[in-house]
Amino acid sequence: MANDERSKAVQALENALSKTDELLDSFSDVLKQDYGAAHQKRDFSATADKLVPQQKNEEPVEALFEEPSENDDERLHMSFEALLSDAKSCTRCGLCSTRKNVVFGTGCSDRPTVMVIGEGPGENEDIQGLPFVGRAGQFLDKWLAAISLSRDRDVYITNTVKCRPPQNRDPYPDEKSACFAFLKQQIAIIHPQAILCLGRPASTLMTGQPDASMGSLRGRFFFYDGIPMICTYHPAAVLRDLGLKRPVWDDLKKLARYLGLPAGGQ
Ligand code: URA
Repeated sequence: MANDERSKAVQALENALSKTDELLDSFSDVLKQDYGAAHQKRDFSATADKLVPQQKNEEPVEALFEEPSENDDERLHMSFEALLSDAKSCTRCGLCSTRKNVVFGTGCSDRPTVMVIGEGPGENEDIQGLPFVGRAGQFLDKWLAAISLSRDRDVYITNTVKCRPPQNRDPYPDEKSACFAFLKQQIAIIHPQAILCLGRPASTLMTGQPDASMGSLRGRFFFYDGIPMICTYHPAAVLRDLGLKRPVWDDLKKLARYLGLPAGGQ
C-alpha cells in the first residue's frame, strides 16, 4: 500500500471507530434513559494507525532475481521482415546446428482466413525451406480445399518450431519455448481470422495445456489472443490411422461453419 493510500485508510478507520463509539454511547444512553448525557469524544488515531498495515519499504528479495519475462523478447517488437531475417540466423536452440533451412512460413500474410500451425518442418520442408510440402502437406491441401480454402490465397501456414527436429522427433519443450516468440509475433502481425492447430505439439502449446491429449483438445474452440482457434489431428497421424479421417472432417466442418465457408461441396 502506498503511503498516501495508507494515510487515507488510517483516517477512514479512525472516523469509523469514532462513529461506532458514538453509536455505542447513544445506545447505552438509550438503555440508561440518559438522553441528555454529553458524549465524551475519544481519540482513536493511535488505534487506527496500529490497525492499518504499514508499507514495507524493503524490496521483496525475489524481485532481485526476477528473470526477464517472455514479453521482453525483442522479437515481439519486430516487423515481419525483421522477424524473418532474425529467424534466418537464429541460434536460440540446438536445432540450428542440424537444419538446412529455416522454415518460417508461407501463404497469405495479411489477415488470412486461417492460420495453420503444424509441429515442425520435416525432411522435405527442411530441404525446400517451406512448410507442409511433403506427403502430409499434400493431404493438408485437400483438407483446406474441402472447406473452400486455398493454401496461397486464404491461408498462412507455419509451425511451432522453424527448424527441423532430427529424425522428425517431436520438438522438445525448450525448443518450442525458444521459438515461441516467432510464432506469437507472426500471429500478431498476420492477424488471421481463425487458427487451426494440427497435432498435439501445436495444440498443447497454443492452448497452454502441456499435458492434454489430442482427443481432449480436438474439435473444441479456444481463443488465442482473442482469435478463435480449433485443434485437430495432424495429417501425418491421419495417414497412419485412416480412422481419424472422420473426427478431422467433423472438426474442419466446425471451423468452416464458424467462418461461413462452404464445406464438402455444399
Ligand atoms: N509436419 C509439420 O508439422 N509441419 C510441416 O511443415 C511438415 C510436416
